[in-house]
Amino acid sequence: MTTMPAAFIGHGTPMNTLDDNRYTRAWRAFGASVPRPRALLVVSAHWFINATAVTAMAEPRTIHDFYGFPQELFDFQYPAPGLPELAAEIAETVQPTWIGEDTDSWGLDHGTWSVLCHMFPDAGIPVVQLAINAEKPLQYHVELGAALAPLREAGVMIIGSGNVVHNLGLLDFRDPEAGFDWAHRFNDEAKEMMASTPGDVASLADHADFRRSAPTPDHFIPFLYIAGLAAAAGTPGAILVDGYAAGSLSMTSWTVV
Ligand code: ZN
Repeated sequence: MTTMPAAFIGHGTPMNTLDDNRYTRAWRAFGASVPRPRALLVVSAHWFINATAVTAMAEPRTIHDFYGFPQELFDFQYPAPGLPELAAEIAETVQPTWIGEDTDSWGLDHGTWSVLCHMFPDAGIPVVQLAINAEKPLQYHVELGAALAPLREAGVMIIGSGNVVHNLGLLDFRDPEAGFDWAHRFNDEAKEMMASTPGDVASLADHADFRRSAPTPDHFIPFLYIAGLAAAAGTPGAILVDGYAAGSLSMTSWTVV
């Protein structure tokens, strides 16, 4: 069986669901280029809880976890099935790390569907989400990502969805395509590490611009999972599409193939 690619997608704002721009076109082209996965396992910035868990419902609901956006976004549905048996397979794969099964609380949040609606627009591939355990140190997420590697040999495509630089408090829409100097510095270092020493990305927390780039770590941590997979495979991450939005968001996406 072929090894499934993995990817980190810089998802930006929920409006990317409805937009057609150079980011969404890159996600779309990548989705169309990969062998069709048996399932998608998504680590979304928007499921940030005090536990390590995966969704295990047969029909995950589309969650609209934002406010202040057009009605069209609240009406959006991504009706992909779940794959309850994959939860047990994941739990087995990452032992002795414990993973809980969520059968009724979460579903698919916009970190997942704003990306998958472009990568796999038919919503026909089962999707499972992996929660980010907010209580764990960054290295835990790198190592858990690496531990997921065998799933790539079993038809599962693993996707991290977040933004390496994500500071909503400093957004500046006067130049929608710009990145602040500090955002460039931090993102450049992340790019350098993904290309050379992806297993060491947790040390980005020591970078002088980390606090401004990831004032809360929720959008940064999905990147750690894909870096962990790159380290496990001995394959550097390759940039799929690169750029900035509103000064304080980096839109860089990577693939590991
Ligand atoms: Zn987000």
